[in-house]
Amino acid sequence: MPYNMTATRVLMNNLRQVMAEDGDTRSRLDHVVRLIAGAMVADVCSVYLREADGAHLLIATEGLKPEAVNKTRMSPGEGLVGYVARTAEPIAIEDAPRHPAFSYRPETGEDPFHAFLGVPILRTGGVTGVLVVQNRTERSYREEEIDTLQTIAMVLAEIVHTLVLAPAPQQGNDRRSRSGSAAGNLKGRVFCEGLGYGLAVLHDPVVPPAKFFATDQAAEVQRLSEGLIGLRESIDRMMLIDGAALGGDPRDVMEAYRLLADDPSWAEKLLEGIRSGLSAEASVDRARREHRAKLQNARDPYLRERLHDLEDLDNRLLRVLGGAEGKPKITGDQAILVARRLGPAELLEYAHAGLKGILMEEAAASSHAAIVARALGIPAIGGIDGLTTRIEQGDYIIVDAEDGTVHIRPDDVVYDAYMARVGLRSERQARYAALKGLPAKTLDGTHVSLMLNAGLDLDLDMLDQAGADGVGLFRTEFQFLVSESLPPLEDQIALYKRVLDRAAGRPVIFRTLDLGGDKVLPALSQLREENPALGWRSIRFALDHKGLFRRQLRALVRAAGDGPLTVMFPMVTVPHEYRAAKALLLEEIQWTLRHTGKKPSKLEVGVMLETPALGFSMQDLAGEVDFLSVGTNDLLQFFFAADRMTPSVSERYDLVDPASLRYLKMVADICKAGNIRLSVCGEATASPPVALCFAALGFTSLSMAGSAIGPVKQALRGVDLGAFRAGLFERMDKPNGSFRNQVLALAAEHGIDTADS
Ligand code: PEP
Ligand code: MG
Repeated sequence: MPYNMTATRVLMNNLRQVMAEDGDTRSRLDHVVRLIAGAMVADVCSVYLREADGAHLLIATEGLKPEAVNKTRMSPGEGLVGYVARTAEPIAIEDAPRHPAFSYRPETGEDPFHAFLGVPILRTGGVTGVLVVQNRTERSYREEEIDTLQTIAMVLAEIVHTLVLAPAPQQGNDRRSRSGSAAGNLKGRVFCEGLGYGLAVLHDPVVPPAKFFATDQAAEVQRLSEGLIGLRESIDRMMLIDGAALGGDPRDVMEAYRLLADDPSWAEKLLEGIRSGLSAEASVDRARREHRAKLQNARDPYLRERLHDLEDLDNRLLRVLGGAEGKPKITGDQAILVARRLGPAELLEYAHAGLKGILMEEAAASSHAAIVARALGIPAIGGIDGLTTRIEQGDYIIVDAEDGTVHIRPDDVVYDAYMARVGLRSERQARYAALKGLPAKTLDGTHVSLMLNAGLDLDLDMLDQAGADGVGLFRTEFQFLVSESLPPLEDQIALYKRVLDRAAGRPVIFRTLDLGGDKVLPALSQLREENPALGWRSIRFALDHKGLFRRQLRALVRAAGDGPLTVMFPMVTVPHEYRAAKALLLEEIQWTLRHTGKKPSKLEVGVMLETPALGFSMQDLAGEVDFLSVGTNDLLQFFFAADRMTPSVSERYDLVDPASLRYLKMVADICKAGNIRLSVCGEATASPPVALCFAALGFTSLSMAGSAIGPVKQALRGVDLGAFRAGLFERMDKPNGSFRNQVLALAAEHGIDTADS
């Protein structure tokens, strides 16, 4: 056999030199294909580069006619080259001209060549080209040769990227689309509203080309085997953490990981990469690229899940190999973080990095991270299909977290449109900032409290920035969600005290633990449920975990000391749940009084309206409840039977609808008769027309994300609420067509700007 491992290592060494050399692109590419043809003992070596439309252009060749370079262009899917690109798999054929997919191109002069071996050139963004070797004689390429050409293709991917796609030196702010790179748009769900522009920083480890080559092969083999041991140990450790408490799902996932990590064929493949001259990291990176490329083509959900697991393992191993160095480096103030999945605690580690935007591929797993993103006030979009395969380290990105679009390598037109929107946004922000010290009082004198939704200390900066009247919803479960284990009593007390301190006398409504549904704690065993939103969650879960619940109530009482305390219970469905929870709170107050001599100077207790049933029982709670707070996020999903976590239905129904408004009016009337104060804390109230509807129904406290306070205040200050109410009720009696449009028209009649609603 002419080809051997030593030849491959020599080739790797030579390629490394080409990468380090100066010289023009053409001659360096020619040099590269000559080297590869020599090492593979091939008569032809050609590189085809993928263009933006999916066609492939011959950009370098040894053996075919030189005049075909930059001329021969295979349409998307055309010929064997197109086949390799589409499948992202190698193809080896003894007699190519007889293959049905073969496409003859006379200008290349390829008539004499029979044997054909093509492999995809893979980068993070998927297939960026195809590398081909051909031989005159009919011959079958062996497994090792195919494998070696794939390794070479990986190195070539970086060479092509450096020489052709991203020619150095990069100009300061050059955002131009480069042929073959992933320019374009992606769509997702807005997790935190805003606009951001900067350079992509990949959360998953990136192996720099300078680290591709093994200088000391034995040392790399040693590093790989130590890395694999470290990886297996870390998985075992994760399985041991509170083993008994680990729920069913995470354990299954970890078992699957362990099986994959122990798979000898994976380790053998990685060793193979090192033997052919790659460093340990580069060998893992090669495997990761292949897994990603397969993932892009895989449709079967089971296979996709396995490939995701494999890619996760590759990333874990890269982190073990890279140690602290493997962590993404964020320098300057232009970073857009790009992640496949991101836990809330991981995102918190970036809290002070000055991120300009956050993009996440997975929606469900990232919903807690979304909340952290909101707390950090960083524009964020999640649920973006194909994100991590389309964006590369250093890509220029616009994060349009107003309409959920990601622009990759925007051209000048898109960039200019973005800058215009940034200008408008800052004008709006300036207008809202000017309202900061002013009350949210309608033209006819109704005062509405505008409060802040918060869940982490980080949120509290917004109290002053947005000029909130207090905290209308403090989601206490976030402290649990961002901790590895259950926060001890002292930590809970400390957090609640900090919140009260930062509020500096303004009211704070602590919502007790709202776990379950999508807020699942790894440290607590929760059952796998068919319908988690309807399941063992929230107050139901708290009342069934009295130890946990009492500890939290005690922490709240202790934090309040002898100051005021306001508490509300989530997802109460029937009055006795409220009564049981309140009884526990009162017991904790007595306990604390006995032990510390202190009790809250004033206690207010409220209930969240999140299930339609409770609305029909509010009269029974008159005299027992101080206030009601509508959790529109949950209430709407139950009212309209539309899962808030399922994108295709979550935004299908509108709160501005005669059915929901009539229901809320009924509840409001019951509460007014029972002297129960009315407030709202769901996301819907962030929209000015919705806020106007609530105010018209008699809700006097609206709680929302800090960024919504300005727009809502502006709307309230500009409305004659009595007249708006009359118009609203009239339309509720006789709805006609789109009710939202009717309400928007009504708001416009009242001079309210609803352009963004
Ligand atoms: C709600 O359901 O509207 C609410 C405020 O609670 P959460 O979003 O935390 O479930
Ligand atoms: Mg809720």
